[in-house]
Amino acid sequence: NTVENDNTAIIETNTDSSSCKLYAISRDYWSDPYMKFFTTKHERKTPEINIGYYIRVTAIRKFLKKFIQQTNQQCQIINLGCGYDTTYFNLQDDPSLNVKHFIDIDFYQITEIKTRLIRRTPQLAEKLNINEEEESISIPGGLHTSTYTILPVDLREISSLDKQLQLIEKNLDYNLPTFFLSECVLIYMSLENSTNLLSYITQKFSTCFFLNFEQINMFDRFGQIMYDNLKQRCCHLLGIQACKSKQTQCQRFIDTNFQQAQLISLNDYYKQYVDIREKQRLDKIDGGLDEKELLEQLFDHYCFCWAYKDPLNIGLDKVTS
Ligand code: SAM
Repeated sequence: NTVENDNTAIIETNTDSSSCKLYAISRDYWSDPYMKFFTTKHERKTPEINIGYYIRVTAIRKFLKKFIQQTNQQCQIINLGCGYDTTYFNLQDDPSLNVKHFIDIDFYQITEIKTRLIRRTPQLAEKLNINEEEESISIPGGLHTSTYTILPVDLREISSLDKQLQLIEKNLDYNLPTFFLSECVLIYMSLENSTNLLSYITQKFSTCFFLNFEQINMFDRFGQIMYDNLKQRCCHLLGIQACKSKQTQCQRFIDTNFQQAQLISLNDYYKQYVDIREKQRLDKIDGGLDEKELLEQLFDHYCFCWAYKDPLNIGLDKVTS
């Protein structure tokens, strides 16, 4: 199937994410001293998009912080479809947020470039203990140190994911609480593929937490995909069926042996968790929103869904929005 084999359009979505993030960072929506090393492309974006990314990034940071604190830093983080995401480097800057091991995973085409950029940028390389790099394990198109690993994996191929994780077994503990992050990733694989991935995770990792940020309410009342521009791109949105509703987003986690799943739309997150002073600050950056309606329309189509498996009751139910 040519669509499934041609990953170019899927890989390109990282260019879009990174450049939107870089633009918002350059406008001080939030701070991230590392993104600029991965991309230089930043085109002007609308305030709605900037605020959307602001919530996406800051909410994910809050979830991570709660998880790291709840586990007393005795935990691992695996970033699925990481793109050029800089979470590892930002966490390194706060000793209270260092974790046992952090793994970034994406297609080879992305990890190869990400690895190269990290190695040749002193501000990034110094966060790696690169001298400590395990000589014995060389990962083509990736890298491995005792605290940070980049793996080139097509997440639709569970056996290759399993093999790559086996390679770094010495620094990976399947019994340590593990946070899986997927930020706009699952929608690019079929429901069957993402179900296999989620099942693999709950089989392998005894205590795990999954945070999924992606689209929701993607169909109108006639069952048609909402936006015109999406229709053109929808051949790559193979997992869109899971992005129908709160029910479909949560159920996929219950079906794959997570014990609990919860969801909040971007709209509700903005209303409930972004405090009034912060809203005012955001509003000022781009001179105020013309219409709140546009923002609400956009934010209705994104959500955070989180799920966990916590057989030892270490308190993963406390990791919430
Ligand atoms: N998570 C990053 C962020 O939010 O900035 C990147 C998001 S980008 C929209 C989607 C990412 O998922 C791309 O980097 C893409 O290559 C990756 N991805 C999608 N399907 C994948 C798969 N089957 N295996 C590995 N990576 C995948």
